[in-house]
Amino acid sequence: MQADADPKVIVYFNGQYMPLEEARVGILTHALHYGTGVFEGIRAHWNEAAQDLFVMRPVEHFERWKHNCGILRIDVPASPEELTAITIELMRRNGFRTNVYVRPLAYKSAERVGVSFDEQNSFAVIALPFGEYLHAEKGIHAGVSSWRRIEDNAIPARAKICGAYVNSALASDEARQCGFDEAIFLNENGHVAEGATCNIFMVRKGVLITPPVYENVLEGITRDAVMQLARRELGLQVVERPIDRSELYVCDELFFTGTAVGIAPIIRVDHRQVKDGKIGAMTRGVQQLYFNATRGHMLAYWKWLMPVYQSMTQHEQNLISLVGVNAG
Ligand code: PMP
Repeated sequence: MQADADPKVIVYFNGQYMPLEEARVGILTHALHYGTGVFEGIRAHWNEAAQDLFVMRPVEHFERWKHNCGILRIDVPASPEELTAITIELMRRNGFRTNVYVRPLAYKSAERVGVSFDEQNSFAVIALPFGEYLHAEKGIHAGVSSWRRIEDNAIPARAKICGAYVNSALASDEARQCGFDEAIFLNENGHVAEGATCNIFMVRKGVLITPPVYENVLEGITRDAVMQLARRELGLQVVERPIDRSELYVCDELFFTGTAVGIAPIIRVDHRQVKDGKIGAMTRGVQQLYFNATRGHMLAYWKWLMPVYQSMTQHEQNLISLVGVNAG
């Protein structure tokens, strides 16, 4: 992941807005030693015609974050709506007019040695200009990792727990060392779970298939958006069921979904072409819909978006430039 980290960028830390270079933690911080933090990832997309930044489903992201913080008994002392307001204010203070990635982080902040928790928590919200994560325009080559996905009764994969991302980092590093663009995890049952930082979808015989939430996957918000768009806008049958490794080799289409990756078509897997090695029609359809929905081009999905600089009412008065021909 390449995100520019200008030290002057304004972040929200310990209840205040401050430059990134002043947001420091101590060397004995509990989370630094034991991985006891929970993070989140949210995107905001710049729309040039509307002259606005649209944050994608911020309230749902903050709700997921707060629930998952509860797994580590971290209480974030703000509601999802208040956290959304902090995020909007952060964007305004930074004056961002480009695509942005927002990284909320809550963690065990006691500075001492000893693994068990106490009630000392801190949180930050960081927003950085952020471009493409995987450069997936032409499709990518994914490889099945030799590392297995963590089990729910070891470290829950459904939460973005800092320590759990050692699992993703090992798989992602191995994939890149082996010449792949991204890793695909199998779980301990040998079923396909997800990518190192993204969910996975497969198309077989016209049906869109993704592993269910009990297969040790993160309950992705992009995954949910894709399921809704595929069902409603493309009329596709969407099924959540376990996927065998060998199905990856015989399927018709394959793609990753995630806040950072967006929709990333997979055209090769383990040195085998997916179908004819070209991006499939359903993948393209979903990609286009997701692009349009996140940029504000589809009225029916405005409910997912939070504008930074203007209100949706102001945008309504300027519908033509925003929605254009893609009104949904
Ligand atoms: N799986 C993992 C392991 C991830 O880190 C992410 C990124 N948050 C996802 C899936 C995709 O989730 P979302 O669509 O909510 O970003």
